[in-house]
Amino acid sequence: MSDLISSVSTAISLASRLREISKNIEDAEFKNLVADLSLELADAKMKIATLVSENAEMKEKIQALTSATGEVCPKCNNRTFELISTRPHPTFGELGSKERQYECSGCGFSEAKMVDP
Ligand SMILES: [Zn+2]
Repeated sequence: MSDLISSVSTAISLASRLREISKNIEDAEFKNLVADLSLELADAKMKIATLVSENAEMKEKIQALTSATGEVCPKCNNRTFELISTRPHPTFGELGSKERQYECSGCGFSEAKMVDP
């Protein structure tokens, strides 16, 4: 990816050298083409920078999902379903049953599970 950015940077500096040379040329169409080329290259460099940061974000997300060690989430199937709290079950708490609250850090799905003593 960084190779891509340096290629475009090289192309941009080539275009600006062309623009310098074009000052000595009286052809208006040539000058316009060089100016358009510079603009297109600057635009391409910005789009590549956006792609590079998106790519880094996605790599981070994939890393987080593939290295997760929680239970499998019933909604998104990633191992990001984690226990966040335990309390006595509202109905069967006196008999020793507990209610465990799980939440998925990937998709936000949340569910309570009843656990018998
Ligand atoms: Zn999930």
